[in-house]
Amino acid sequence: MVTAPVPTIGVLAVQGDVREHLRVLSDLGVRATTVRRTTELDACDGLVVPGGESTTMAKLARTFDLLDPLRQRVKEGLPVFGTCAGMIMLAERVEDGVVGQETIGGLDITVRRNAFGRQVDSFEDDLDFAGLEDPVHAVFIRAPWVESVGDRVEVLARVGHGEAAGRIVAVRQGPLMATSFHPEVGGDPRVHRLFVDVVEDLDRVDHRE
Ligand code: GLN
Repeated sequence: MVTAPVPTIGVLAVQGDVREHLRVLSDLGVRATTVRRTTELDACDGLVVPGGESTTMAKLARTFDLLDPLRQRVKEGLPVFGTCAGMIMLAERVEDGVVGQETIGGLDITVRRNAFGRQVDSFEDDLDFAGLEDPVHAVFIRAPWVESVGDRVEVLARVGHGEAAGRIVAVRQGPLMATSFHPEVGGDPRVHRLFVDVVEDLDRVDHRE
């Protein structure tokens, strides 16, 4: 029997909640590693872009000479999972961004930053999530929502309750996944598991070539 190789999944570590993602990924049995330079990015089979502050993250990625290599790897099909600020980093279009805000791009979505408003700046909800049997308990912190999606984008979850009910908060487009909320908090690894499956499925295809 041939055992499948263990994939390496990086976490972009210029800013944000890096450690929590590393923990969930390690618990899932993949090689989890921080990414601050291109050589580290080159070693990754998949990448998580964490929550934090997308404007700062973009500036630091630019300073670290990572933004263009990240764009290149996304173009080449690298699986990337963005959470919260990471979702903004993967979006092709940002509403309520700062002037000149850059992103990695790749996901054909328009996101609105800090969309849920000041009063409800952080909240929690149980979401039906495509591909998962039981609802996901989602923690939103100054989260974006997805205003609109292109044809190739699959909607994975929407807000279930309250004023924002129906708003899109999780999407997938081929190897790119993004959630408005923070699946790395709360001890439920199922959303990360879906991403690891995306990475492993692609890996398997690569090894067959
Ligand atoms: N509001 C932040 C931004 O615009 C995202 C918040 C988060 O990642 N928790 O980047």
